[in-house]
Amino acid sequence: MSHIPKYDLIVVGGGLGGSSLARAVAQSGARVLLLEREHQFKDRVRGEAMWPWGYAELQSLGIDQTVHCEFGVEQPHLDIYFDGERVVRRDVTSTSNQKLPTMLALRNGGRARPGC
Ligand SMILES: Cc1cc2nc3c(=O)[nH]c(=O)nc-3n(C[C@H](O)[C@H](O)[C@H](O)COP(=O)(O)OP(=O)(O)OC[C@H]3O[C@@H](n4cnc5c(N)ncnc54)[C@H](O)[C@@H]3O)c2cc1C
Repeated sequence: MSHIPKYDLIVVGGGLGGSSLARAVAQSGARVLLLEREHQFKDRVRGEAMWPWGYAELQSLGIDQTVHCEFGVEQPHLDIYFDGERVVRRDVTSTSNQKLPTMLALRNGGRARPGC
């Protein structure tokens, strides 16, 4: 009898996509192996802003509260400046199909955010 573990899914790369996929499939009961080549987390310049449709994906994955509490801040408006003057203010929450704000990444020094 073989002792080699068997998996339903092997995901190569534990970035935003791979780790989200692995978590979602594992939660449905599948045996998932996630392979990541980096031994230590590298804080790469990525994912600083998430539009409402991305926020909706966080909600469907059930991790929106975690992201929000750990390092996210909701930004309901998008302001565009030209020559130091604000020329456009878009109310993202009311004008997006998802009726959600933008989520911005924010370092919070490990402090719990209000409501978390
Ligand atoms: C500079 C920059 C800024 C960005 N800003 C934003 C933003 O503000 N908002 C936003 O929504 N998106 C942003 N993006 C896009 C976002 O980062 C990507 O869409 C997202 O990271 C893609 O996820 P991924 O899991 O496919 O790839 P990645 O996040 O790149 O993850 C790939 C993973 O695979 C691993 N890997 C690679 N090869 C192997 C291997 N052979 N074996 C094992 N592991 C391996 C890597 O180490 C890495 O961890 C930005 C991208 C860049 C480059």
